[in-house]
Amino acid sequence: MYDLIIIGAGPAGLTASIYALRARKKVLMLERMIPGGQMAMTNNIENYPGFDKITGMDLTTKMLEQAVKLGLEITYTDVLEYDITDTIKKVRTHNGTFEAKTVLLCLGAFAKQLEVENEQKYLGKGISYCATCDGNFFKDKTVAIVGGGNTSIKDVLYLYDIVKKIYLIHRRDTFRCEESALDKVKILSEKSDSKINIILNSIVTGLKGDGKLESIVIENKENKAISELNVDGLFVAIGRKPDTDLLKDILELDSLGYIKTDEDMKTNIAGVFAAGDVRHKTLRQIITACADGAIASISINNYISTMKN
Ligand code: NAP
Repeated sequence: MYDLIIIGAGPAGLTASIYALRARKKVLMLERMIPGGQMAMTNNIENYPGFDKITGMDLTTKMLEQAVKLGLEITYTDVLEYDITDTIKKVRTHNGTFEAKTVLLCLGAFAKQLEVENEQKYLGKGISYCATCDGNFFKDKTVAIVGGGNTSIKDVLYLYDIVKKIYLIHRRDTFRCEESALDKVKILSEKSDSKINIILNSIVTGLKGDGKLESIVIENKENKAISELNVDGLFVAIGRKPDTDLLKDILELDSLGYIKTDEDMKTNIAGVFAAGDVRHKTLRQIITACADGAIASISINNYISTMKN
């Protein structure tokens, strides 16, 4: 029996584990893939206090090492079922069922798909949802990036030194991202020999290629003009959605599937907490995920101490 099972080893989960282990709690972390979540897939992080610039993988390693030094136990497995409404919480996984007094859901969010025909067919054959993971496969090639948020802009900056040409395709004419990063992209795109071509008010409507992606069809939303761009790769960076399907009949979710919590990270079920990007909130950053994790851990300590009475 654990005091706490944390599901997800992103910044929220790792921070919560550090706080809980320092409070001498018995903690199990369950992680489906690799530690770090979206943080690990971010190339350069320039807004995490204490580091002018650090790679997501380095920051992940530092957080993970800190937690492991404190005694964190991690099992790499997928959760199959949550039985978390009673006092003893049960989490069924491929590696068996684990029990705890509390559960902290740090499930993050996964990449949204364009939902254009043939998207699955070209997955790994030109289409990627992670520039930092797959960018090197496109050395000196032509790629397109779709999206107008921080991920797409960071992807442009990451791929700039790797690829030959970048089309940045956004469905509107204004971006929703950090001004400083957008300024860098704009400066690079305005150079006379720029390899960046920004295409606004446009959406991808078709994907073509014989066995692998060779071109994309785009439609200008204003004048309905259709054009085709020859590309070797397409990075889809159009946001993320939470992986909360298994929880939809158990927890209160918002209309997009994010978990509703109060400011102490409590969900509607006693002993079940949520932190990080999976939570309904306005700002999803590493620092806000860490803050959620710290707050959740303190709430969990308080909850466990009331259980003893
Ligand atoms: P996001 O902020 O939700 O932006 C998604 C972008 O994709 C938006 O510009 C949106 O257009 C566009 N989009 C959505 N659905 C689309 C569709 N079907 N077809 C075409 N375009 C579509 O997602 P994100 O950039 O992945 O960022 C997710 C969160 O992580 C954000 O909170 C972000 O700030 C954070 N993040 C932060 C950093 C950092 O270094 N600070 C880095 C990466 C991510 P509209 O603008 O028209 O809605």
